[in-house]
Amino acid sequence: MRPEILFPLFVPVESLKGVGPRLAPAVHRLAGPLVRDLLFLAPSGLIRRREMTALTAVEGEIGIFDLVMGGLTKPGRPGLPFKVRTNDESGFLTLIWFGGSEAWIRRQCPEGERRIVSGKVEKFNDLVQIPHPDYVLAPDKRDEIVPIEPVYPATQGLSSRQVRRLVLTALEGLPDLPEWQDPAWLGKQAWPSWSEAMTVLHAPGGEHDLDPQAPARARLAFDEVLAHQLALVRRRRTRQAVRAPRIAPGQAAERLLSALPFTLTGAQQRAVADIRRDLANGEQMARLLQGDVGSGKTAVAALALADAVDSGFQAALMAPTDILARQHHERLTPLFAEAGIQCALLTGRDPASVRRPVLEGLAGGRLPVVIGTHALFQDSVAFHRLGLAVIDEQHRFGVRERQRLLDKGGPDGGVHLLTMSATPIPRTLELTQYGELDVSRLDEKPPGRRPIRTAVLPLDRLAEVATRLKAAIEAGAQAYWICPLIEESETVDLAAAEKRARDLSRLMGRPVGLMHGRMPGPERETVMQSFLDGHTPLLVATTVVEVGVDVPNATLMVIEHAERFGLAQLHQLRGRIGRSDKPSACTLLYASSDTGLGKTAVERLDILRQTEDGFEIAEADFRIRGGGDPLGLKQSGFPAYRFADPTAHASLIRAAADDARLILGRDPALTSERGRAVQVLEALFDWRASRPSGD
Ligand code: ADP
Ligand code: MG
Repeated sequence: MRPEILFPLFVPVESLKGVGPRLAPAVHRLAGPLVRDLLFLAPSGLIRRREMTALTAVEGEIGIFDLVMGGLTKPGRPGLPFKVRTNDESGFLTLIWFGGSEAWIRRQCPEGERRIVSGKVEKFNDLVQIPHPDYVLAPDKRDEIVPIEPVYPATQGLSSRQVRRLVLTALEGLPDLPEWQDPAWLGKQAWPSWSEAMTVLHAPGGEHDLDPQAPARARLAFDEVLAHQLALVRRRRTRQAVRAPRIAPGQAAERLLSALPFTLTGAQQRAVADIRRDLANGEQMARLLQGDVGSGKTAVAALALADAVDSGFQAALMAPTDILARQHHERLTPLFAEAGIQCALLTGRDPASVRRPVLEGLAGGRLPVVIGTHALFQDSVAFHRLGLAVIDEQHRFGVRERQRLLDKGGPDGGVHLLTMSATPIPRTLELTQYGELDVSRLDEKPPGRRPIRTAVLPLDRLAEVATRLKAAIEAGAQAYWICPLIEESETVDLAAAEKRARDLSRLMGRPVGLMHGRMPGPERETVMQSFLDGHTPLLVATTVVEVGVDVPNATLMVIEHAERFGLAQLHQLRGRIGRSDKPSACTLLYASSDTGLGKTAVERLDILRQTEDGFEIAEADFRIRGGGDPLGLKQSGFPAYRFADPTAHASLIRAAADDARLILGRDPALTSERGRAVQVLEALFDWRASRPSGD
């Protein structure tokens, strides 16, 4: 329920004076459908305008002039401008328009009248001129021009100036909201009130006010993150209130553990302990197991599955692709057999005759564990007593898909959820992205892993690298060749990969595999399978190489145009090799651009040479690339903040997360005075109201 005091902000932008049917679509595109959305559009820069005269005009700067309009000269021939001659007491100045209509210019500049003009000064043969002035106003409208003007992002059909005018109108209706920040904290930070912060946001006093750490901007960023964290903490509490099966560690896990050919690392043991605590306490678990490729997530998951079965529940393991599901099934079946647990595979590609007994076993409760793909959450799949769902590579599934699996629980209450991800992310992002999940980190690699030798070389060494690769392949090695990522065009991307595959095939004197994103799933899996079986020695691929696929014999990787990838992504790609006791090597080829980017690229890539720790790499990537979208988080549902920047505001994000827990811990129903103000804050940043689907 939205507090009434916010109503004026949650009306359509169309209710603002000046937003008609022509402007409205542009405003929606740029900011959103609501007045709130427009007000939360932060200026991206500013323009300084200075009072000048024709005599004192400074070339290249933006002046404000008080001028008397003179005669208009029409263009003598196409390509020449309209000119209006003007003057003040100090001299002459010409206003210039290329194109435009004579009538419109005459209306703007009525001969003999005074006008306030602002625009960028140019000098041409010693004549002062202003091409396309930003403002030509009657003297009584002079206030519209401010010495420091915020610049807004503009869009087709909506200029920065129009945005500014609308924002100013919207600001007039700004309600006086109760203070939700802790007064002591506000004082300590020397932050303004919310309404002051909004005013300064839209009327910066200088460049310093655009800084993310400027008091107004920092306050708004904190407000935004606090609102988000409150929502996350609340969702977590709602979930924890769901009754779920009590699952206790048992014999099966013990037997499974002794069947493993290794002992668990400390990190794996800690993760297992976290999970067992969650499973035993009668509340629904929602835990993320974060661990780099090869950190041993599967064994942790297997123990949880075994515990669930031991306590009399069924359990499911879902993977994003057929290959991954099969691989899990192949590896886990013998282990589960040791523990006396039967497990079956369910994929969409199996014929009905194979699926039927599995479906019956699940519905009847005879089959305790199923491993599968998307097929698992289809309506045809029913469980007798599903207690635990494990989802591998969780980001490959949508929220709804995950939920459909969780909805298959029975009378025992909610289904425990364990999700797994191989994308190490910095702690700050963990808070903003996974705030509603509990997180266990596998930050320790299983022992005995051979390091991957990583080399960083300029692209002009490509031929040499390819020749060495040929020798290695002839000696029995398998290799990946990753092709450039060209963001603008998938087609160009594909063409490059196809060409590289042809060239390499010619050089190697044998067929090579090719895999890309445009390929239909089944075809892609056929190519992958052939590589997995060792039939194809070399796999040329765009970035679609399956995360999680284990081809131990593949020990070499070449990445072309490595400078175009994020470090975290390169690290993930590199994780495809180094999976056996044979030494592995990765070559990063970079384009040494003439723009000077070459040096930074090498410095950045060098981090990969220095470490194989995914968390360390993620932190470095995050630091270097800043607030962009280094990990492709936007696509994965990462909240698009208006004010907060995860890099610039990292410490504020941590503080907001603590604050949210504190606030809801003290006053769970938010009924105190501050609690009610906090409710206003949460509603203020509720973006559901601005999405067409309303969710
Ligand atoms: P990921 O976290 O990428 O899913 P896996 O679970 O596939 O990693 O494990 C990668 C490899 O490491 C597997 O071959 C697995 O058997 C092995 N492994 C897992 N845990 C350990 C351990 N504690 N000691 C030695 N090897 C391990
Ligand atoms: Mg895995």
